[in-house]
Amino acid sequence: MGYRISRREFTRLLAGLPFLPMAGESLSNDPLRRGTSISAPNILILVFDALSAKHLSLHGYPRRTTPNLDRFAEQATVFHAHYSAGSYTTPGVASLFTGVYPWTHRALNLHGTVAHPYEDRNLFSAFGPAGYHRVGFSHNLFVTSLMYQARRHLDLLIPARELCLSDDELADRLFPHDYNVAFWSEWILMRKGYSPPVSLFISLLDRVRRPRRQAVLEAEHRASFPRGLPTMHNLYFILEEAIDYILESTAQSPQPYLAYYHLLPPHEPYTARREFVGLFDDGWAPEPLPPGAFSGGHTQETLNRKRVEYDEYVAYVDAEFGRLIDTMSRTGALDNTMLIVTSDHGELFERGIAGHMTPALYDSLIRVPLIISRPGQRRRRDIHTPTSSVDLLPTLLQASGQEAPDWCEGRVLPSFGPETNAGDRSLFVVEAKSNPKMAPLTKASIALINGSRKLIHYLGYPECPDSWELYDLTDDPGERHNQYSPSDPVAETLRSELEYRVNQATVALSEQ
Ligand SMILES: [Zn+2]
Repeated sequence: MGYRISRREFTRLLAGLPFLPMAGESLSNDPLRRGTSISAPNILILVFDALSAKHLSLHGYPRRTTPNLDRFAEQATVFHAHYSAGSYTTPGVASLFTGVYPWTHRALNLHGTVAHPYEDRNLFSAFGPAGYHRVGFSHNLFVTSLMYQARRHLDLLIPARELCLSDDELADRLFPHDYNVAFWSEWILMRKGYSPPVSLFISLLDRVRRPRRQAVLEAEHRASFPRGLPTMHNLYFILEEAIDYILESTAQSPQPYLAYYHLLPPHEPYTARREFVGLFDDGWAPEPLPPGAFSGGHTQETLNRKRVEYDEYVAYVDAEFGRLIDTMSRTGALDNTMLIVTSDHGELFERGIAGHMTPALYDSLIRVPLIISRPGQRRRRDIHTPTSSVDLLPTLLQASGQEAPDWCEGRVLPSFGPETNAGDRSLFVVEAKSNPKMAPLTKASIALINGSRKLIHYLGYPECPDSWELYDLTDDPGERHNQYSPSDPVAETLRSELEYRVNQATVALSEQ
């Protein structure tokens, strides 16, 4: 890391500077520093954790969850069949960072990290030569962990505590050079029943004071957040602060910048602000599907209730996003910034499954939004070709006049490069959280998407041993009718391709 500043230092810095300079102005450094042209766009990537494309009114969801994303889309490019390469945070974000599939970067496991070569093969390293000021922040410490692996390529890695109401994370302060080892240790202790993240150091004291402080925080914010405060790893935060911080810090940043902000909402617990609570008490629910092999035993009633709370939370996230784009539009910041909105995975409320920690790979879980507004874009474009999170890295490089590195497995997104990225390729989603990191895949679920076809293979799960599912997403978007038959030539072709890619990944593993 080049340097880092604390929130307090940042606030002091702001105090002496005008708020929100006009687009193109750089208050703190020369735009030609490190040989960069002023025409290189700023790149702001916003990831809202667990935001399912299937729940957005932008993509036809019956509830009006995203009026602000709908508005933003009118001056952006909207990808209607965009898939995360992973089904939960770690593999999904690692693929977005590296431009390769999980079976290549190997951040497969809960709190996994990428294989050694990918510490230097990622979005942040790729933008170094062009002189971009590279910034990363995440509420989700699993993502912080991935960014920590890439920290030598970040100019500023903002600690989670800078945007938290509580200030508990100690690992990075006590072990600045061994963050991941310290965090892992805390994680292991938590699995044994201790509470992270400070359990390793002051667990006894912490177990006394944490519930008390939590109660105080909850009480302070009860009027605005009747369902509680957004929380993860025992950190508490509110989205409004993060949005304010993004607006302030990007306005004051050296330019051009590449900023990655990973915000936890709408990840569970679903704790919308008061005005969104009750917004969808409409009695609506989709036609239920019978519990499947990976059912968590949730009743339909429970799933419907959770769905309502999630949808409210999505509407809250959308409203805060609306505030962000309105401010960036007013100040002219959108005229020299490429703004990307996406997610790392979705959420499921069907077949007895709630959330995203499941081997199942249905579209609500793996289809995520991708909306990109280019600097000054005024017209909407809609792309229906299936695309993957591994495509983002080559696309952003292309959009800033750079070439994709040869290790990247993604393609430049349609409408961002030569129109050769037709829908003829297959893309993949890989879930292997229980598989050893550097071993061939023997316990995994893998989806292949090609055009409107989607093949899912469950491998090594006792609930569903070595099984295959095939859906036509055009005729059957709810994935209700498994059409798989080994004698069907379409199924056979797709299956051969999936098996070939799994074998290739095994061969590549032996060469690492
Ligand atoms: Zn996530």
